[in-house]
Amino acid sequence: MKTRYIRSDADTPNEEGIRQAGGIIRAGGLVAFPTETVYGLGGDALNKESSRKIYEAKGRPSDNPLIVHICRFSDMEKLVERIPQAAYDLAEAFWPGPLTMILPKSDAVPYETTGGLDTVAVRFPSHPAARAFIEAAGGYVAAPSANRSGRPSPTTAKYVAEDMDGRIDMIIDGGEVGIGLESTIVDLTGEMPMILRPGYITQEMLQNVLGEIAADKTMLKEAAGARPKAPGMKYRHYAPKGVLTIVEGNRDAVTQKINELAAQASAAGEKVGVIATRETVDAYHADCVKNIGPRADEAAIAHNLYAVLREFDDEELTVLFSEAFDTAGMGQAIMNRLLKAAGHRVIRV
Ligand code: AMP
Ligand code: MG
Repeated sequence: MKTRYIRSDADTPNEEGIRQAGGIIRAGGLVAFPTETVYGLGGDALNKESSRKIYEAKGRPSDNPLIVHICRFSDMEKLVERIPQAAYDLAEAFWPGPLTMILPKSDAVPYETTGGLDTVAVRFPSHPAARAFIEAAGGYVAAPSANRSGRPSPTTAKYVAEDMDGRIDMIIDGGEVGIGLESTIVDLTGEMPMILRPGYITQEMLQNVLGEIAADKTMLKEAAGARPKAPGMKYRHYAPKGVLTIVEGNRDAVTQKINELAAQASAAGEKVGVIATRETVDAYHADCVKNIGPRADEAAIAHNLYAVLREFDDEELTVLFSEAFDTAGMGQAIMNRLLKAAGHRVIRV
């Protein structure tokens, strides 16, 4: 399959290109598109053949449900059996934006889209080109992140092309995304709302709207025997090709330990990469040292994380180390992704 490329800036959508992209979705094809979080791989959410194609293009297990993207709140009525008050409250506070809600699905949503579940994940993104595209596509776009399964989510069209060129009909290039980590997922089908995946919308922001809220305990811990509530979170996502270890502790002890381990690995013939912060980048000796941003700037760290992991892959590094980050605010999302990339390998010093 030959993949077509179009450009569409975030704020002034390329109308003709987006009209064509919408036509591809209506005809059952697949289009990758930018959102404010990461690039999505879209297909018609109400067409089970389209959802099957998404799984195939990603190489993703088909029990891992897709998120349905809409471009106006009222379109949720078609997807959801009954809309609870909490969904109105969250939509009022955070939509359009990087929040996904899990709700009981209606008959209009095929099980192919929900990975066999009776619930559906719904998101209303804020990215103007994404919204124009969803509208052109008929209003219901199922989209997981536009990476091959097991690779970091793509934050630029170039990374989408690396994974998807020749496998999908079109890629809409909207430049670099803003946030860089996937949406926060909140499950509203239980007795108490529960965060299944942390993201830019933090636990505290959700609490301010909903009052009490639970968090899936597998988010930052590898809980023995516990099964993550979002089926996708059980897979070893975001896995770089090199073996990644996180080193946690006070700054000097961490740099010393990472340098020690890096020297040992180099001596053993490994190619070593280090994820450092602006404050520490000059303190490391390794084949490749990346400054992920200033330690206090969690937005920058979130924005750069997946790009750094992909660059490490490109340089064929075999052993990787990262400093740990604070888990307050959006740090919860950063550490959730980093711990997964590291397969929960953490050394405390
Ligand atoms: P991605 O689109 O790559 O961000 O992945 C979508 C995430 O949403 C995966 O982790 C899914 O398991 C999760 N998800 C989608 N639908 C549901 C659902 N109905 N219940 C729980 N988690 C869901
Ligand atoms: Mg994904």
